[in-house]
Parts: sequence; C-alpha cells; structure tokens
Amino acid sequence: MSQRQNSSPLTHQVTLTVLTLAAFALAILVGFGFYAAFQADHASLERQKMFIADGLKDQIAAVEREQESVSIWDDSVTNAKTGNQEWMAENLSVWMYTYYGHNQVYILDAADHPVHAMREGKVVDTSAFGEDASALLPTIGKLRAMLARPPKADASGQPARMVAEDLISLGGKPAILSVMPLVPNSSRVTQAPGTEYLHVSVEFINDAVVGRIAGKYLLDGARLAPLSQTVGAAAVPLVDSHGVILGYIGWDQERPGLDLLHKMGPALGVALLVAGGVLAFLLRRLRRASFALQSSQDQAQYLAFHDTLTGLPNRALFEDRLRRMLLFAGYDAARVALLYLDLDRFKHVNDTLGHPAGDELVRQTAARLRHTIREVDTVARIGGDEFAIILLDVRDVRSAEDIAERLLQKLCEPFRLIDDQIFVGASIGIALSAGPETDADDLLRKADIALYEAKKNGRGRYQVFAGDMDDLLLRKRKVEAELRKALTGAGGIKLAYQPVYAGEGRRILGAEALIRWGHEVHGALPAAQFIAIAEERGLIGELGKWALTEACRFAAATELPWIAVNISPMQLRDVNFAEEVASILQETGLDPARLQLETTESVLLEHNDAIGSVIAALRKSGIRMVLDDFGTGYSSLSYLRRQAIDKLKIDRSFVRLLDEDPSASAIVKALIDLARALDVEVTAEGVETEEQRVLLLAMGCNQLQGYLFSPPLEPGQFLSLPGLSAGPQELTNARA
Ligand code: C2E
Ligand code: MG
Ligand code: MG
Repeated sequence: MSQRQNSSPLTHQVTLTVLTLAAFALAILVGFGFYAAFQADHASLERQKMFIADGLKDQIAAVEREQESVSIWDDSVTNAKTGNQEWMAENLSVWMYTYYGHNQVYILDAADHPVHAMREGKVVDTSAFGEDASALLPTIGKLRAMLARPPKADASGQPARMVAEDLISLGGKPAILSVMPLVPNSSRVTQAPGTEYLHVSVEFINDAVVGRIAGKYLLDGARLAPLSQTVGAAAVPLVDSHGVILGYIGWDQERPGLDLLHKMGPALGVALLVAGGVLAFLLRRLRRASFALQSSQDQAQYLAFHDTLTGLPNRALFEDRLRRMLLFAGYDAARVALLYLDLDRFKHVNDTLGHPAGDELVRQTAARLRHTIREVDTVARIGGDEFAIILLDVRDVRSAEDIAERLLQKLCEPFRLIDDQIFVGASIGIALSAGPETDADDLLRKADIALYEAKKNGRGRYQVFAGDMDDLLLRKRKVEAELRKALTGAGGIKLAYQPVYAGEGRRILGAEALIRWGHEVHGALPAAQFIAIAEERGLIGELGKWALTEACRFAAATELPWIAVNISPMQLRDVNFAEEVASILQETGLDPARLQLETTESVLLEHNDAIGSVIAALRKSGIRMVLDDFGTGYSSLSYLRRQAIDKLKIDRSFVRLLDEDPSASAIVKALIDLARALDVEVTAEGVETEEQRVLLLAMGCNQLQGYLFSPPLEPGQFLSLPGLSAGPQELTNARA
C-alpha cells in the first residue's frame, strides 16, 4: 500500500481552510483598524476646521471690538470733524496699529472723503485711500445704508450695532475689513444723522494672525496659503461676502487615529508574530491529526478492498472492476476475458505442511500471477486458493487461452515452501464477454462452470466455457435439489443387494449393497451418475451415511456372512469417518467383521496421512477394506504392499474381455496372482458367462459376482435366495 506523505486531500483541505480563515480574520482586523483610524482622523479634521473657522470669526469680532473702543467717543467725533491730524493719529490710527496691529486706518467724512490715512503705523497722505477704495467702498456703502435706515433694536432692547465688516483682498493679500461710524458716547456732543464720519480699519490676515488663531487650538504649522498654492485637506477657505475665495488658512493636520496606529504598530507586530506562531503550531498539530486520520481512512479503505495475505484486490473490488471493464468494453470491439483459477493441490499442502505453508503458497502464487499478466489486467484473490483474472482487450479465445497456458506453466514450476520443493499446478476456467450486454454475474458463473469442467477433466488444464455446460449444470442442480428432498425422507432411494458367490456358484459368501434411486420424473438414474452429483454438491456424506446405516441394518438381520458397502473417497477424507462407522455399527448391532468397505484406488494415491489413519482405524476395528474396480486406475503396488487393504475386486472391464482377448486373460491372471502373492482376497466383478466363471475359477479366483449368478436384488428377493434366512421384522422395515 502506498502512503502518500503530506499530500492527502483532507490535510490540504484542513490547512487551506485554517489559513483562509486566519487570513480573513487578519484582513478584517487590519481593515477595521485602518477604518477606525480613518474615521477618527476624519472626525478630528472636521473639528479642526471648525476651530479655525471659529478662530477667524473671533478674530473679526476682535477687530470690531478694538475699533469700537475708539469709535464711540465724544472726542473722536469732535477731533475728526475739526481735522485734528495729530489727535487722530494718536488715538484713531497709529494707536490702533501699535496696540492692536491694525494695518490700515482711514477716517472718512460724511461724503466718504478721506480726512486721515494711516498705513503700517505711519500717517500717510489721504490720497492713499484712492488705491484701496474699490475694495473698501462696498462695505462702506453697506454701513452708510445701515446708518440711513438703522436696523430695529434686537429682542433684548439693545440698539443694533452699527458695524459693517467683510473679508477683502488688498493688493492680493486677504484682510479683515471693519467700518464703524464715529459716534459720541455722551449727550454733550450731538451729531445730526447723515453727518457721521467713518472709521475704516483693515487688518491683514498674515501668518502672525493665522498663528494666533491656530495657536489657541494648539494646531501646528498654521499658515496662509494664497489661492495659487494647492492645499491639503487641512485648510479652511477665506470667503468674502460675495462667496469669493480669497485664500486659505492651512495647518498640519492632526491625525489621532494614524498616530495611535503608529504607536501601536510595534506592539501589534509582536502580537501578530505570536499569533502567527500559535497558528503555525496549531496548524502543524491539525495537519498531523488530519494526516493520521487520512492514513487510517486510507488503511480502512485499503483493507475493505484488498486481501490482506496477498495485497491483491479482494472479491468486492474485483467485482466492481469487472463491472466497469465490461461497461467500457461494451463500447469497442475488444472483449474482456475472465479467468477463474484454482490451485490443484492446495488442500494437500495445507493438510500436510500446515497453514503457514498454505499461506506462503498463496502468496507466491499471487506473485507469479501478477508477474505473468500485463499491468492493465487485474488479478484478484477470491477465496482460499481461488484467483480471478480480468484480461482486457482480448482479441479472441486463442489469446485468452495463450495467457491461461502461460499461467499454468508458471504454476507448474515448483514452489519452495519451508525447505520443501512442492509441485502444485492449477486449473483454469475461461469465459469471454460477448458484446455490451454481458452481465458480470453471468460471466463469473460461466468461468466458474468452465473451471469445474477443467478440474473434472483431469486438472492442470484450462477449459473455455461452452454453451452446453450451462444445460449440464442446470440438470445437475435439479438432480441435486431432488436428491436433497429424497434424503429428507421423501423416499425414492433404496438399496439393492447383489450376492457374491463362491467359485462353484452355489454358496453365497456375502453381498454388495448398491444404491438405487427410482425417480418419478427421470426414471431410474444410474447410481454412478447421481453419486457423482452428490460428491460435487457436497451431499455424499449424508447419502453415504444413509446407505451404510441401511446396509448394516439389513445385514444384521440376516445370516449373511458379510456385507460390502461402497464408500466415496470423499467420505474417507473426513477424519471422523472411522468413529462415524463405529457408531453406525453400534446402532445397527452389526459385527465389524461382517462389514467390508469398498473404495476406489484414487483415494489411496493421495498419500494423505489423514486418509491413511482413517483406513488404519477402520481395519483395526475389524472392518475389511476392499479395493474396488481394481486395474482401472493407477494401481499402487506400494499401497498393496503396505497391506492397507484386505481384498481386491477385479474390474468387470477385464472380466468382460476374458472371452475375446487372450492378453486380457493374462492380465487377469496376473492380477489374481498379485492378490495371492500379497495375501489378499480377490473377487471378480461382472461375471456374466459360464466361460468367464470357469476361467476365473481356473485362475484361482473363487469369489464371483455378476449377472450370471444374480443381478442386484430388492431386499425381499435377495432374502428368498436359497441358502439365506433373516429375522422377519427387519426385512420389511429395512427402508423405513
Ligand atoms: P461398483 O461398486 O463397481 O458396483 C458394481 C456395479 O456393477 C453395479 O452397478 C452393478 O449393478 C454392476 N454389475 C453387477 N454385476 C454385473 C454384471 O454382470 N454385468 C454388468 N454390466 N454390471 C454388473 P451400479 O449399481 O450401477 O453401481 C455403479 C457404481 O456406483 C458402483 O460400482 C459404485 O462405485 C457406485 N455405487 C453404488 N452404490 C453406491 C453407494 O451406496 N455408495 C457409493 N459411494 N457408491 C455406490
Ligand atoms: Mg463396489
Ligand atoms: Mg466395481
């Protein structure tokens, strides 16, 4: 299993989410900080502007107040009207410059002609008024209008103040202009309306004035900015009564928000670093946790779809892949081949070398299979020693067969297991997809049937599924189902008994029990056929037990010297078989010495210790073992020599040839001699003619069985044979 370090999607996702959230939080924090600072700065600027505007108003009011201190005065009225230049300079003009900083003062008569002029603390010629007249006259006119039509007293009864003021531009410099009439402060001096002299005062708004205004509010860097100069946000325009901008008062803007940020900057930086560190730490732990989670998730996923022993895909993953492959293959001409593979001698390895060796064999098999097929093909472990292989892009049956051939060759090579060289071999069933409609289950079933056929036809080979295998299987299934029914007591199964005679043909030595199944639909099925089905379908144990019990019960009720019962090799593989037989003998009351068990040679060839000990146990209890159909298989002399059996039955195929083929009689003679040499009994099966009988007798075989004497008989018929008797009740309920 390949573990992907650090790059699991889950880990990525977790990291990304946390980082995004952190970045988002940081952006909000920083954004909000700047926004708050900006808002604070903005509010502060508005306040600063208000301060400057108020300061300017105060400055104008101050000019008026200062002017008032001299314009409402009896002496001013009289001295102005008498044209006392010295007095006017001392009290109305130079004095204003010295004490209050007014830059220009003009005293005008009732007809607005200048009678006195002062500039920058010096009395100058009255003609100077002419230079400034255009800027001054509109405000002067306003005051004259007020004087001509005095405004009403205000709510508190105070008479309205007679003053006209404005911001003006003199020689390009902004200035505060204030105009007031000279009026007496007592009744000692009287003045007819319309004859008032005017006091015109001008104060330039210069840097000093601006500094005074700003200084009151502790604003730094205050300056006068002329129109031509660009000003920042921190500026208040100087606007005259007509809305004309004359210049600006600018200052260094106070930014409390930004200042705060500046001051907090380093602390924030440190805090961010710490937070970053904590985040990194948490992230690392989170990544580790999510990586662990991902790994265990991957592990679980892997385990769910793979076989732990071999690492191959398991059945679930295999079936899923097969379905997909079939779907894809449906769209092009190429076909999918399914190979079902089963080891031939796996059980043997497991039984003799133990499970660890069996596991090792499976592992090595998996490796060989994987190395033999292409990368695109799939090999999966389906069961104990069963493997399935999906081959893609198979052109025809031949190419699938080639691969099967190669696989078989590979598995024929010896395996090294626990210092032992083991030859195993395998069988393969092949099924090919047919067009887009191929169903995965159907293909699996066909490959399985083909595998079964391959095994039946001798193992170590492959078999391609053929259409008629299906029919055969269906028939077998049907027989199996009916056999099960019959075994549950529905009836139909019986035993027939065929006597075995002594050579002269009159004396009954014993009998062989042969199973019969008279089926209502299929008619009588040959015993060999349904026995084979029972073996295939796992019914043989039950069927065999029934036959054994039945035969023993029958024999126990007769004076028959012995009864022979056929035993399937499969029954002998059951380690409990000897005990089972013993309990049947006990139950039926038959003496073990009266029981013979017939089995074929194949089972003896397995060299299986378990079978060997079962046979030994059976023989030890007094039961005799008979080798049936002797001569048809690979006769194992060593087995005979080890005296594991008590009797040979020469197969009827040899007996039949006795009349026709002289070489056959030589073989039969040899077989009989062999039996005698080994000191085992010998029976000839299928004796049908008198000639055979005579020949066999002459050769020394004196146990004969066959149609010449009697076919297998129903129990009742059998018991009526001359020379036999039985207890009455057993005969009838032999098959209860
Ligand atoms: P087998 O044990 O070799 O049985 C002898 C077969 O030869 C029987 O066939 C019998 O009817 C037949 N036979 C007897 N005399 C003659 C003759 O003169 N000429 C010819 N042509 N045939 C003769 P059957 O009953 O059809 O049994 C076939 C095989 O089925 C048996 O061969 C035996 O292997 C198996 N079988 C029968 N009953 C049982 C049983 O209860 N259990 C097991 N496991 N196998 C059984
Ligand atoms: Mg037999
Ligand atoms: Mg036989």
